[in-house]
Amino acid sequence: MLRSVILAASRSSRVERLVETAPFTRDVVRRFVAGTATDDALRASQELVTNGLSVTLDHLGEDTVTAEQAVAVRDEYLSLLAALSAAELTPAAEVSLKLSAIGQKFDEKFAYDNARAICAAASEAGTTVTLDMEDHTTTDSTLEILAKLRADFPTTGAVLQAYLRRTESDCRELASAGSRVRLCKGAYKEPESVAYQAANDVDKSYVRCMNILMSGQGYPMLATHDPRLIAIAEDRARWFDRSPDTFEFQLLYGIRPEEQARLSADGYTVRVYVPYGDEWYGYLMRRLAERPANMAFFARALVSKK
Ligand SMILES: Cc1cc2nc3c(=O)[nH]c(=O)nc-3n(C[C@H](O)[C@H](O)[C@H](O)COP(=O)(O)OP(=O)(O)OC[C@H]3O[C@@H](n4cnc5c(N)ncnc54)[C@H](O)[C@@H]3O)c2cc1C
Repeated sequence: MLRSVILAASRSSRVERLVETAPFTRDVVRRFVAGTATDDALRASQELVTNGLSVTLDHLGEDTVTAEQAVAVRDEYLSLLAALSAAELTPAAEVSLKLSAIGQKFDEKFAYDNARAICAAASEAGTTVTLDMEDHTTTDSTLEILAKLRADFPTTGAVLQAYLRRTESDCRELASAGSRVRLCKGAYKEPESVAYQAANDVDKSYVRCMNILMSGQGYPMLATHDPRLIAIAEDRARWFDRSPDTFEFQLLYGIRPEEQARLSADGYTVRVYVPYGDEWYGYLMRRLAERPANMAFFARALVSKK
């Protein structure tokens, strides 16, 4: 019910105008999105890097339906990477990329070609690309494209979602030397046939997956705000004798900034995921619709910096 209401709102331009002009919205957007332009992304990155944090930038937008839109997204990433390099923000800043934003839904080969151009530009700029993971219908395609990209750009990062039943096995596959793997809980509404539904089961899966990645040969990127999971990760780092340059924590822009600073002060590498771009309305609304529990997630972040 709540999901249908939010989805209807996400398609209504009247609601969009209302939401865009509400004072509460401006606070939410400013807190979670760096801004709309490349310059905003650079400014936010500069500030985070100055404070000792690393960055991954996400140009908002997904599920593009035309080749023109996909090419425009590719070109935005190319200019962003050139600007990051010119501002000497690489390698501290890398980029996160959704394959659906560059054509995956209508032409996988075209999406691969676009991703390849972005990886080449990242390599030229001295930094890396991480492929965000979307809903489970895209997992196989995304991992196949990742494998092809890694043939030429071995540092290309993967994302695995602990709520998927398949993920422990994917972690084993991807825990090889040099393999950068972001582990997150997963943000989409998925059926029981493929995903754990209970929060506790997702958390237990996260720990099993983290054990595989932290005991493996790769470079784990532990993306969570969950204090229990962060504490377990710190424990595993000691247990598996991992120095801070062999794994990292990742958190979203505007969420638990004090914890981001605390982890960084304790000597860990902390990367902040920074979204920017015009499409923040659809982004925030779809995240809420996919998982109404995210409503509490955003509301909590507004009142808490811990
Ligand atoms: C860097 C990064 C990249 C991501 N990339 C992807 C991706 O590619 N694909 C994908 O599907 N998902 C991605 N996600 C989203 C992820 O899957 C989760 O939906 C999201 O991170 C919420 O899960 P959580 O682990 O933070 O814990 P939650 O289950 O949301 O929260 C667990 C606990 O954390 C604490 N907490 C959470 N938020 C706050 C807060 N604001 N203030 C205080 N305490 C809080 C609370 O104690 C809460 O009970 C990414 C997340 C991050 C951080």
